[in-house]
Amino acid sequence: MNRVVVIGAGVLGASVTYHLARAGAHVVLVEQAPGPAAGTSGATFAADVAHLKTPYAYHRLNRRGSEGHLRLADELGGPGWRHPVPHLQWADDEDGRRTLRENAARAREWGHDCRLAPASALRDLAPAADPAACAGEEIVVHGGGAWFDAPRFVRTLLDAAARRGTVELHYGTGVTGLSRDGERVTGVRAGARTWHADTVVNCAGPGADRVAALAGVRLPLRRVPGLIMTTRPLPGAPLTAILTVPGLDLRPTADGGVLALSWEIDARLRGADAGLPRELHRRAAALLPGVARVGIADARTGVRPVPLDGLPLVGAAVAAPGLYHLVSHSGVTLAPVLGELAAREIVGGTAVTDLAAYRPDRPADDAVHDENLRAMDRRGARPSAAVHDAEAQAEV
Ligand SMILES: Cc1cc2nc3c(=O)[nH]c(=O)nc-3n(C[C@H](O)[C@H](O)[C@H](O)COP(=O)(O)OP(=O)(O)OC[C@H]3O[C@@H](n4cnc5c(N)ncnc54)[C@H](O)[C@@H]3O)c2cc1C
Repeated sequence: MNRVVVIGAGVLGASVTYHLARAGAHVVLVEQAPGPAAGTSGATFAADVAHLKTPYAYHRLNRRGSEGHLRLADELGGPGWRHPVPHLQWADDEDGRRTLRENAARAREWGHDCRLAPASALRDLAPAADPAACAGEEIVVHGGGAWFDAPRFVRTLLDAAARRGTVELHYGTGVTGLSRDGERVTGVRAGARTWHADTVVNCAGPGADRVAALAGVRLPLRRVPGLIMTTRPLPGAPLTAILTVPGLDLRPTADGGVLALSWEIDARLRGADAGLPRELHRRAAALLPGVARVGIADARTGVRPVPLDGLPLVGAAVAAPGLYHLVSHSGVTLAPVLGELAAREIVGGTAVTDLAAYRPDRPADDAVHDENLRAMDRRGARPSAAVHDAEAQAEV
């Protein structure tokens, strides 16, 4: 039986563990935190972003991720973590509106349910929003949108994997070293414990470059922090859409509150600053009057693991066979497809061509290929500073 050690119990570690177990492997999952989804997967906006992604091949991969959530819902007995809602966007200047129209046309051409609508459509699609706060006369409506309860997704996958009887879950177990036989990685060390494996899978999210460094591999990764603020449940109408609007992203939460994120605020993140969650709350209240009547339930900073060219890092580096990396931004959308394809490669032993473009040894490339990520950088994320500012996830 194929023996695999997976490092990290976020969305990617959980998905590959589930798919490996389903393919008949014996899996030991080690996670440094006391429980699952304690890293980025517990502090994420977690919208389905497939319709926003470019270039086309990467867009297709994300689309397979979205479809994979539906497949997994069938396999696992219910879509408890996936919440379908429309995704609405608008801009506040002519340049922004032109970009949105162009992106909408491209999304339609690539097969998405995407249309322009008058701003008055907001009354039906998101009655919790104040239509007067909508700058401009038109909005973009992505009909097939969804947001994911990522921690619930992780728990569902790991529960299903554990039921197969060939999976061990070890929490509170930080990997401190890798066993080698020549160049080949043959296991992990965590304190006094050692596990041997045919393959070790590095799903350590924003810590993946540090795990890779244990084998002398340099993963081209940057850490970009993002502040997430959630409110208590709104009185009256809940939010019924994802909103991406100037200076703010909003989505519903499972208990009827909202979750807010702002690239502009992320650009000012410097460790703990109680003023920034309050500013997010003020921005959300300006758009959703109900927010003004409820307080902040939670605020935390998640750290995006962002490969330098924006595309996933999947597979082993030539310098350290046996250590398979599985690292990506937009990992919630992508987890079903990346976990499935990685498990197929690891258990089947032959390269999957759909992953060929994402090998960690690909030539270094300074260009960011994903338009969605380029927009993130334009709107304020400071890549070089972010690497140093967000060394650890911190409660704000
Ligand atoms: C603000 C924000 C907004 C986002 N919005 C979206 C979005 O809308 N849509 C989307 O699809 N994605 C989004 N993302 C990205 C997405 O959340 C991440 O890509 C995804 O959660 C990464 O999952 P992961 O499993 O790779 O990493 P993680 O969830 O961080 O899991 C890695 C795990 O590895 C563990 N670990 C690390 N080092 C070790 C070690 N040495 N030993 C043992 N365990 C270790 C960590 O404790 C952690 O639990 C967003 C992220 C952020 C921060």
